[in-house]
Amino acid sequence: MHPSTDIPLTQRRAWSPTSWQSSPTHAQQVLYPPHTHPLLAITLARLADLPPLVNPSTIDTVRSNHAAAARGEAFLLVGGDCAESFDDTTDAIVGLKMDLLNRQAEVLERALGEKVPVHVTARLAGQYSKPRSQLMETLVDGRTVHAFRGHNVNGASAEDREPDPRKLLHGWWHALAVLHKLSSSLMNTDKKQRKPIYTAHEALHLPLETALTTPTTRYNTSAAFLWIGERTRQLDGAHLEYARGLRNPVGVKIGPTTTPEEVIAVLTLLSGPLDSKEGEERGEEGKVTLIPRLGVDKASIVLPPILRAIQASGLPAPVWMCDPCHGNTFAVDTGPENNGAVVKTRCPTTMLREVEQVIEVLGEFGVQLGGLHLEQTGEDVVECVDKGVLFLSSSSSSERYKSLCDPRLSGSQALEFVEKVAEMLVK
Ligand code: PEP
Ligand code: MN
Repeated sequence: MHPSTDIPLTQRRAWSPTSWQSSPTHAQQVLYPPHTHPLLAITLARLADLPPLVNPSTIDTVRSNHAAAARGEAFLLVGGDCAESFDDTTDAIVGLKMDLLNRQAEVLERALGEKVPVHVTARLAGQYSKPRSQLMETLVDGRTVHAFRGHNVNGASAEDREPDPRKLLHGWWHALAVLHKLSSSLMNTDKKQRKPIYTAHEALHLPLETALTTPTTRYNTSAAFLWIGERTRQLDGAHLEYARGLRNPVGVKIGPTTTPEEVIAVLTLLSGPLDSKEGEERGEEGKVTLIPRLGVDKASIVLPPILRAIQASGLPAPVWMCDPCHGNTFAVDTGPENNGAVVKTRCPTTMLREVEQVIEVLGEFGVQLGGLHLEQTGEDVVECVDKGVLFLSSSSSSERYKSLCDPRLSGSQALEFVEKVAEMLVK
């Protein structure tokens, strides 16, 4: 899936927010119908004129938090939806997500102590674009429609699947409303000073991300932290070409087939010079966050050669952030009560084992886990279950399966999960 690593850096062209346009997008671009192209162009121009959603000074703060996490002097908690819904831009739902993150941060801080501050980031205020394994979907009635690609692109219902450029602008206003809630609640009624909650999303929809990137200063002002997904991290691809120029810290998901050569090439690309003339200081530690999402029982096979190669390379240290979600997803048939609907789920105990294994393997190389990346919500949903199909097939549970995409830990599952991870971190 991921082609050759030998792209000579000296032959790279100068970076600009649009330089990715001459690299392949490897099939994840949104196929806007031709009749919407004029509207897409107008919408992107409008987005480029809007004020920053996140200030560059905040992005600089987050970048130094990531540098500290790469040195083992901070811990990064990232949590939120797989696919954020416009319908969830409510005071109550965003409030529940914030409360959960704050409580998780308190648990981690108690365990890690003052020397390792915890910084909190939500997959929120912009996590509206999704990659899909199949870009088109055939419905039970035989119709072929676009797959759901996130609320920035289309709707989850079969009737709303045509990509609509206007949704990009809706996404911006939803993000603004969520950011307002995140910042206005910093000073709570209980007068307790809250930690800032930074925001992150997958940098997937490149025309959108480009519109929200300042060309001269190279900040993507739509989020503090952006990551490139497992499906779009090809070395010759458009997504890494876009990400390499950003001043924001950048995450890269790494799956079970990732080779040490690929990781070295990714780190070199993202922390190397922008072009052969560029003299600016680049590539500080923590500029890149590696996000293994391997699946249980893979860490001890996949990670040691990668860790060895990084240590031998002399490249600036990345943050290691464990995503125990995406390698442990499986589909279950929810049975006749739900007309045989198939849903995706995850077992929290399996996910915890993956975290434990990643901590252990990193530890063997003297590296500390620098972050945890979870799909979660503060709501009382039933999406991840240890009892699997039996539980999901009860009708009361199926109403509580609300995710637009991957299954999330519920508020209580996610808090308990972090309590257990906190114990592992100080063992
Ligand atoms: C995600 O984080 O929702 C996602 C799609 O992850 P990955 O790229 O690791 O599959
Ligand atoms: Mn997901």
